[in-house]
This record gives sequence, C-alpha cells and structure tokens, in this order.
Amino acid sequence: MSDRTADRELLDRAQRRIPGGVNSPVRAFRAVGGVPVFVDRAEGAYLYDRAGNAYVDFVGSWGPMILGHAHPDVVAAICAAAARGTSYGAPTEQEIRYAETIGELYPSIEMMRACSSGTEAAMSAARVARGFTKRDGIIKIEGCYHGHADFFLVKAGSGLATFGAPDSAGVPKGAAQDTIVVPFNDVSAIEAAFEAHPNGVAAIILEPVVGNMGCVPPDPHYLERVRAICDRHGALLILDEVMTGSRVARGGAQQLFNVKPDLTVLGKVIGGGMPLAAYGGRRDVMSVIAPLGAVYQAGTLSGNPVAVAAALATIKHLTDDLYRRIDKWTADLQQGLSSILHEKGVPGVVQRVGSMFTLFFTEAAAVRSWDDAKGCDTARFGRFHAAMLAKGVYLPPSQFEAAFVSGAHGPSELDQTLTAARSAIE
Ligand SMILES: *Cc1c(COP(=O)(O)O)cnc(C)c1O
Repeated sequence: MSDRTADRELLDRAQRRIPGGVNSPVRAFRAVGGVPVFVDRAEGAYLYDRAGNAYVDFVGSWGPMILGHAHPDVVAAICAAAARGTSYGAPTEQEIRYAETIGELYPSIEMMRACSSGTEAAMSAARVARGFTKRDGIIKIEGCYHGHADFFLVKAGSGLATFGAPDSAGVPKGAAQDTIVVPFNDVSAIEAAFEAHPNGVAAIILEPVVGNMGCVPPDPHYLERVRAICDRHGALLILDEVMTGSRVARGGAQQLFNVKPDLTVLGKVIGGGMPLAAYGGRRDVMSVIAPLGAVYQAGTLSGNPVAVAAALATIKHLTDDLYRRIDKWTADLQQGLSSILHEKGVPGVVQRVGSMFTLFFTEAAAVRSWDDAKGCDTARFGRFHAAMLAKGVYLPPSQFEAAFVSGAHGPSELDQTLTAARSAIE
C-alpha cells in the first residue's frame, strides 16, 4: 500500500490557488473519488509521486506518450532545440520537415497548419470547413470530444436533428445554435440531420474511434457510410484524430479503416508530449486560410521549435515493430481482464482498438454509443480504480476515458496489472 500523505497535503495547497486543484478537470479524480497523484517525475511506463511511489501508467498524458515517458532520444531532441532558442515567431526549416512528415504519414493531409492544442486545431478546422463551404452547420456526435470551443460544448436539442443547446455554463445559446448532435454508430440520424438542414451543413466532425466516452470502435462500414453521406450533401468530413492519430496505426484510424477525410485534426502523439497539434487536409480547402484566403487563424507559439523537435524525434520511433508490440501487449491485457471478469462473474466488457482500451462495467455485450456508455456502473468503476491505484496501477480516473499502452510497457508491467486486477475486480 502506498503512502498518500504527501498527495493529500498537495491537494489542499493546490485547491487554494487553482480551481479544484487542477489545470484540467478530469485530473481531479472527482469521477472516481480519492486523491489525485501529484506527479514528481515519469520514466518509461511509470509515474512517480513525491513520496517515491511508482505507478504503472495507463494514462500516458491522455495519449501522447506512446514511446513511454522521457524517451532518451526525445529528451535529447528537446534539449538540443531549446539551446538554439525556444521560440522565434518566424518560420523555420523544421516546420516544413514536420508538415512533410505529417503528409507522408497521412496522405489525405496535403497541407497543414501547426498550432498548440487539440482544442485550437479542432476549432480552426471547423472554421476552415465553414469558410470553404460557406455554410454554418456542424454535425457532431454525442459523446465525442473536440476540445472546449463554445460551439462544440453542445448537447442534443429537444428533437432529433434539431440544433443543439449549450452543454456548459458560459456558452451562449447562439454559439450552440449551429451545432447538430447525433448518436455514434447511427447512420440514419446523420441522414435525418441533413434532411432537416439541406445545404446548411458545412461538415461532420467525429472521432473515428471514440476515446472520449471510453474506447468505442465504429461499427463495420459506419465511417464509409458517413463519408458517402458527406459527399452526397456537399459537406466536408472532418476526422478528429487527436487521440487516434498515430495511436491506432501510424497513419491513424483513417489508415486502419481506409477512409479519406477532407480535413484531419491531430494532436497528442504527433505532438511528441509537447503543446503541439495540427489540422490539415485537402489543398483546395486549406487554401482558404490567411494569408492565402479569407479565413483567419494564427498563433504566437504555433510550430514552436522545441515542440516540433520533440514531435519529429517521436515520429522517428513510430515503427511497424512498435505498433505490433503495443497492440499485442494490449490484446494480452484485454484477454487477461476479460477472463478475470468471466471467472468472477462480474458483468463487464473490455473494448480495444490497437493500444487504446477501456474496461466498461456493464451488462451489455458491447458499448456502441454514449447512451450505452452512460449505462455503465460508474460506482463499481470508482472502486476498481481506487483498488488498482492502491496496487500501483494508474488508470484513467473516469469510466468514460480510454487507457493507453506505451512501448515501455513490458511483461512485468502486464503481470503486475493483471495481478492487481485479480483482486481489484469484485
Ligand atoms: C484531447 C482531445 C482533444 C483536445 O485536445 P487538447 O490538446 O486537450 O486541447 C480534441 N479531440 C480529441 C479527440 C481529443 O481526444
């Protein structure tokens, strides 16, 4: 059992100066109860707190750390870049190399813009789609997360296919009025939305594999049907691959499921653990951005040289061998957890795509939508989370978040995790 006294003291201190004691809400552990781990350092597959407790990390900074923490080549690239100056506000050759590299990984991205967060990238991609199509409507999927821009913090309106309502205080009704919210894995809901708003929809945006309701894969042919509907109505398909990009495959979910978006939103893995994200796609669409066109988007730290160096160093290690290893590791974990659920007679399902996974406590055979995810036993997840943490396993502190495996997770971490789960699942 780890000693959590230091974390309790840090939480008290943090709460006096930072809302909830955290700089992003899910870190506060409110969804599972308990005290967050205040991280002192991280290396490989492990997080360490101030007291020296070690945790096998399945959060990986919410996705970016696919090589494990403090990979020596990434750290060296960051140090070398920092020594040459940390920000210029002027173009560099490295940014070109970065855009060329992203274009090689994602053939659909003919042109791209770098920015500093997934929120910024998704918000900008929507603006570009609206500027290109000269339409205002955006269809989004219930339970998908695209960052915290006003017009994405929207829940379904009163009737199917109507425009949405604010899902956060502080979001004006007007900002929600051009967003239509439909359920995941439901093609007919998208068709109904288009019928209700002919020639009004600029784009559909979705996570091709949803990570932000826990790991929920698309039904067979779902993405291909969404693509076809967009084409039929002259709307753009925006894949938000901030989480799935270079995670479920080197070229993201668009490679894995063979679907070609008009625009892609990237962040997390392709940012190398630094504040770096990107959006891009068709050359004609991206050509509406200033200074070429009339859509404004900018950033003081966009394409930051230290962040780009970390990203390029990370991308160099995204080999076929890495994906084979982490996918196999995660498949073994999935199988191990599933057998434990079965042995103990605990209702649950472990969903996985590549090296992202979620254990859902549910009677259902599968979680396919936000409605299914909401039906899960979150109290049981909270107890499971606390028991795993006490055994040195750090899972995402919410039933509705995907967990991630890195190249630094080896056989001993698999043993430790399954041993912990054997006593934590009850
Ligand atoms: C994390 C995430 C974002 C937001 O990225 P930030 O860098 O946290 O702003 C957007 N979309 C998806 C799918 C994400 O997982």
